[in-house]
Amino acid sequence: MIPVKAYAAFSATTPLQPFQFERRELRDHDVLIDILFCGVCHSDLHQTRAEWGDALYPMVPGHEIAGKVMRIGSRVTKFKAGDTAAVGVMTDSCRQCNPCKSYMEQYCAESMTGTYNNYERDKKTVAQGGYSTQIVCDERWVYHVSDKLNLAAVAPLLCAGITTYSPLKFAGVRHGDKVAVAGLGGLGHMAVKFAVAMGAEVTVLSTSPFKERDARRLGAHHFVLSNSGQMEKLKGHFNIVVDTISADHDYSPNLKLLALHGKLLVVSLPKVDPHVDPFELIKNRRTIIGSMIGGTVETQEMLDYCAEKNIVADVEVIPIQYINEAYERMLRSDVKYRFVIDMASLQ
Ligand code: NAP
Ligand code: ZN
Ligand code: ZN
Repeated sequence: MIPVKAYAAFSATTPLQPFQFERRELRDHDVLIDILFCGVCHSDLHQTRAEWGDALYPMVPGHEIAGKVMRIGSRVTKFKAGDTAAVGVMTDSCRQCNPCKSYMEQYCAESMTGTYNNYERDKKTVAQGGYSTQIVCDERWVYHVSDKLNLAAVAPLLCAGITTYSPLKFAGVRHGDKVAVAGLGGLGHMAVKFAVAMGAEVTVLSTSPFKERDARRLGAHHFVLSNSGQMEKLKGHFNIVVDTISADHDYSPNLKLLALHGKLLVVSLPKVDPHVDPFELIKNRRTIIGSMIGGTVETQEMLDYCAEKNIVADVEVIPIQYINEAYERMLRSDVKYRFVIDMASLQ
């Protein structure tokens, strides 16, 4: 077994604290990664605070993992020691069902194995995430990262990046499309970067007036305060709205903004079920599309696309001892635009 240091949540109401546990010895197809950086996703906060129901404690969160390969199993072909590598939101799946055979393992008929707050395929080992010094993962769920990019800023691509890239591609964003991004946080700022790179005319819908300058720096063409009268003028305006709002909210205000055949891309996961007005849904034959991260092939494609276009997240690098304060700031929408833990602080 491989001993690792970590930070874990021990209950829904107590701060994260230092924790030690063991990773499994390498199987034939496993890769051992020394974690250098791990992004902090709002899903980490939702899950450590048991906002999605059952939570497994102690819970080591973290699913935006970037580091170096230390060792490989005897039958690993994709990686060698010293490679820069990354792990995202899942680490396994049934591998047999249709979604798995199509490399859309996030939609596995028997559920993907989440990187943490989940049982591994043996149904008894608790999966633990990236707020830790090392991780062991089957090579299918490990990705290559270009050494051209700043590794701390690459880490958030593993969740915030792929979660916004995948639905934008699925929706077929074309040059000149009008795309709105609701919520300028970790996911939102990546959605802006990708939509701009795909040639869209991008509008940020935000509750935070102080984010306007950043929105424009990130490439957005317009900025609208979503809790103001300005939304009224945008009814029927957009081809696509990407909903990344972490707080409880209804879908209808964003649905109203869609033009004929417009699509509401929902990636946010608040705790309370949203209200949808069916009259707004049938108007303009609108569609609501949910989307969960991205599969293994698409995740590698996204990382290669980012290397080619020089796209990374805007990050604030923090020591792990700052994590509880970082969570509080995330709740206040005070993140520019992703916290990333420098794992050297845990050594
Ligand atoms: P985040 O960095 O905290 O950003 C969320 C943004 O939502 C905030 O920056 C804020 O933007 C907006 N917001 C917050 N409170 C609001 C309120 N009361 N009213 C309106 N807007 C509010 O969170 P994130 O990491 O990007 O995650 C966003 C959501 O996506 C979370 O629910 C997360 O669990 C989910 N998620 C889903 C997937 C998936 O596979 N589908 C993957 C990862 C995360 P403004 O300041 O601009 O208003
Ligand atoms: Zn995430
Ligand atoms: Zn499957």
